[in-house]
Amino acid sequence: MSPGLDVAVVGAGMAGLTAAHELRRAGLEVRVFEARDHVGGRMRSFRRDGYTIDEGAEQISAHGYRATWELLARLGVPDHDVPRIGRSVGVWRGGRAHPGVAELSAVLTGAGLPPRARADLVRLMAWAGARRGAFDADHPERTPAGALTVREFARRYHRDVHDYLLQPVAGSFFGWDTARSAVAPMLCLLLAVGPAAGWRTYRDGMDLLARRLAEQLDVRTGRTVHEVVTEADSVRLRVGDDTVTARSAVLCVPAPVAARLHANAPADELPFLRACTFTPTLKVSCLLDRPLAPRCRTPLYVLLTPDAEDDVLSAIIVDHAKHPGRAPAGRGLLTLMADARRIPDLMAAPENQTADRLVRAAGRYVPGLEAAVKHRFVHAFTHGLPEATPDALRRRARFMARPARPVEYAGDWVMLRPASEGAVRAGALAASRVLSRLRPPRTTGPAHPAARPTEETVS
Ligand SMILES: Cc1cc2nc3c(=O)[nH]c(=O)nc-3n(C[C@H](O)[C@H](O)[C@H](O)COP(=O)(O)OP(=O)(O)OC[C@H]3O[C@@H](n4cnc5c(N)ncnc54)[C@H](O)[C@@H]3O)c2cc1C
Repeated sequence: MSPGLDVAVVGAGMAGLTAAHELRRAGLEVRVFEARDHVGGRMRSFRRDGYTIDEGAEQISAHGYRATWELLARLGVPDHDVPRIGRSVGVWRGGRAHPGVAELSAVLTGAGLPPRARADLVRLMAWAGARRGAFDADHPERTPAGALTVREFARRYHRDVHDYLLQPVAGSFFGWDTARSAVAPMLCLLLAVGPAAGWRTYRDGMDLLARRLAEQLDVRTGRTVHEVVTEADSVRLRVGDDTVTARSAVLCVPAPVAARLHANAPADELPFLRACTFTPTLKVSCLLDRPLAPRCRTPLYVLLTPDAEDDVLSAIIVDHAKHPGRAPAGRGLLTLMADARRIPDLMAAPENQTADRLVRAAGRYVPGLEAAVKHRFVHAFTHGLPEATPDALRRRARFMARPARPVEYAGDWVMLRPASEGAVRAGALAASRVLSRLRPPRTTGPAHPAARPTEETVS
């Protein structure tokens, strides 16, 4: 029996939609199966009473998101649909917010760091700056930082560089425990995206790109894939109660899900799949009757609340500062990010209690918050962000060198990059690997093995 599809894509997040888009452009018959009733995965947004609420991702950047910007240009998304946020990131210390985190001026203003730590920040920036070319976000396993964890790396510097900069950034934006995650992917990402002044968001919600991609694709929502089996030269998938066959499948789901789905994954894939663990994330969106924000002398977009200062929250994001259209005129929208140490308990509690706990904790930074909150929504992801541990880093090169096979993988975890650009790049890479197998390049010279796509072939 010949396979029914050229390619079955599992998961309609950014990785799956990008892979499907590239394969469709190449003329293949592609179908995307998505378990939930909507596309976007961890980059989904929804609309309620004039508010636009992001369930997962919050922003992208003008820099370090090359594959994303290429897709946006191809789909004809105008620049004004991806506006600059243009507000500061602050850190809480000693009873007040200090603006200027992730800005070059932090070496002068301190952004919460005392003079000795500031001098060490200059040292850190000089060290990374001198080696900038070696911090390639597509190859985090090859940097001069080796497999050090964030905390091990930070021991070279004043303690506050960890406690009031690296930890709050890693803890809030990536949900990381600095003792578990490797510093190399973090430095690669921070160097690539640059200062907060370049950060942008999608005007009408972070799901814009997912929605635009899905419009042009055959996406089946509400279709959970239960099993994927590699056969001789094709793939069999159990989708709901049906069996689907395809010449190729791309598993665009978090690594722990991919490892469970792929019943007969080759032995050389398993070590990396198992090493790609995830941290859970939990946040609460608060719909406000007025535009409240954390107190600070400079208007903030994000307030980081370090572990050293707070054990319930990791950050507060001012969504109505992203774009005026995110909340109705005169209203406000805040996102409260939970501290990773509290997430297991918060996930187990009833949503109302979880929301109460975070709103109470945030009242310390945003006076009057409890009275202004009209609705709260809790968003939790068991597989929130790839942890990028030293173990995963060590195993990545071998995984990336495997030959193209009937079952491929994509997702932010493949790049060990806790950001949507990682998902987009991994989707494009998986598509090129599928094409190399289904459509090996023609050659006029002597026969040679089909070209093996490498990360360098994806631009
Ligand atoms: C709280 C939070 C904040 C973030 N902030 C940012 C940010 O500011 N900037 C940024 O760039 N990135 C951010 N990210 C990261 C970004 O959201 C992800 O890197 C990206 O969306 C991952 O895309 P993906 O396609 O790899 O995975 P996912 O989005 O997880 O997509 C996987 C899809 O597969 C589906 N699926 C799972 N199992 C099955 C199955 N058995 N059958 C069928 N379908 C299945 C899921 O429902 C999902 O839709 C954030 C993430 C979180 C959680």
